[in-house]
Amino acid sequence: MIELASAQEKVLRAVQQAAPVTVALNHAYGLVLAENIVSQEEVPHFANSAVDGFAVRAQDVANVPATLRVVDEIAAGGVPHVAVGPGETSRIMTGAPMPSGADAVVMVEDSTEGKTPEEVVLSASVQVGQAVRPRGDDVHIGDVVFRIGDVLHSAAVGVLASINAPHVSVVPRLRVAVLSTGDELVDDGSPLALGQIRESNRTMLMGLVTQAGCVAVDYGIVRDNEQALEETLRRAADECDAIVTSGGVSMGAYDVVKALLGRIAHMTWMQIAIKPAKPFAFGMLDAPRGSEVQRQVPIFGLPGNPVSSLVSFELLARPALRKMMGHAALHRPSLLAMADADFLRKTDGKIHFQRVIAQSNSDGRIHVAPVSQQGSHQLAASALANAVAVLPDGDGVVQGGEVRILLLSDLVEEA
Ligand code: AMP
Ligand code: MG
Repeated sequence: MIELASAQEKVLRAVQQAAPVTVALNHAYGLVLAENIVSQEEVPHFANSAVDGFAVRAQDVANVPATLRVVDEIAAGGVPHVAVGPGETSRIMTGAPMPSGADAVVMVEDSTEGKTPEEVVLSASVQVGQAVRPRGDDVHIGDVVFRIGDVLHSAAVGVLASINAPHVSVVPRLRVAVLSTGDELVDDGSPLALGQIRESNRTMLMGLVTQAGCVAVDYGIVRDNEQALEETLRRAADECDAIVTSGGVSMGAYDVVKALLGRIAHMTWMQIAIKPAKPFAFGMLDAPRGSEVQRQVPIFGLPGNPVSSLVSFELLARPALRKMMGHAALHRPSLLAMADADFLRKTDGKIHFQRVIAQSNSDGRIHVAPVSQQGSHQLAASALANAVAVLPDGDGVVQGGEVRILLLSDLVEEA
C-alpha cells in the first residue's frame, strides 16, 4: 500500500496546466485567468448621483429648511441641460450625471414640495461630495483589476463587463470523458437479470466532473472486452483532455481495464492506504497523432464500488483536473468540526474517510454526524453527505471531540 499523499503527489506531478485560450466573457465564469487585466476605462465613467434627490451646492443647504428653485431634471442615461447656480437645484436620479455647479445631493426623502412647482424645500444639510460617486471611484484607468491565477467568480465577470473586457485569456474548461466498465451494468431500463445491476457511477461522476468546473462527456458503458474498451479509450483520448473510468482496477479476474491499459498506456496501479477506495490506477494515454507534439491524456481509473468511486474522484482526480485548469487551490477545504457521534475505527494502516453530514450549529461551529450506512456499495446513504470525516490510523474520535473534515459541497446548512 502507498500513502495517500504520495499517490496525490504522483498524480499532480504528472499533469500540466492546459494552454491558455481566449474566450468570450460569457463563457469565462469559473475559469482561471491566464493574463493580468488592466483596465482601459474608469468606473464610474462620470461623477453621478448615489441617490434619487436634488443636486445642490452644499453651501445653499447649510441652513435648513432651504427653499431652492428647481432648474432641471436629470434621469439615469440623461444629461444635465443647465448648470446649478446659487439658490438653484436639479432634480436627479440615481446614476445620473452630476450637473456642473452642484457639489452634493440631498436625498428625495429630505425634500417637500415648495409653494410653486418650480420650488422645493430641502430639510437636510449635506457635506460637499455627499451622495456623489466621483469619476473613477471604483476603477481607475491602468488599475490591475485581476491577475493571472485569479478565479473568475460571478462578481469578477461582472467587473470585466463593467470595464469593457469582452474577451479574456483563461485556462480552458477541460473536456473530461466519463465511462464505466462492466458486463453486469444495465442502463436501458430493462428488467434486471440475476447478476445485473443498474449503472450509476457514470451519472454520478458526470455530476462530479461538472461540479469540478469541467465539461463531462458521456462515453457510456463499455463491456469487459479489451477490443471495445480500446476503441472507446482511443476515441476519448482523441476528443477529450482527460478520461475518468470506473470499475476494473481491482484484483478481479475480469479486470480488463487493467489488462488493456497496462498494454496501451503508461500506467501506475496503486493500492492506496485509505478506506474506501484502495485500488486506483493512473496513467497517460497517447492521443492519436494530430499534430507535431504528442498530446498525452491523463486517465483516472476509479474503483467500481460507487462510494469508492466518489471518494477516489474527490481525493485523486478532482485535484488533478483543477491543476490542469490552472487553480491554485486544488483540494477540498479541510477544517475541524465537532463530532456529534462516535467516529470509532480500528488500526489498520489506512486513513478512513467516513461520509458525514456537516451542519452549522447555533454555537457557531460546524457539527458532523455520520450517514447511516458506510459500506462502499451503499451510495444511497452516502448521497446525503456533504463532507467526509478524515480519520487517521488509530482508534478514531469520540463524541464531543474534534474531527477533521473535507467539505465536499458549499452547501453547509444550519442545523
Ligand atoms: P469492479 O471495480 O469492476 O470490480 O467493481 C466493483 C463493484 O462495483 C462491483 O460490485 C460492481 O458491480 C460495482 N460497479 C462497477 N461499476 C459500476 C457502475 N458503473 N455503477 C454501479 N456499480 C458499479
Ligand atoms: Mg468490473
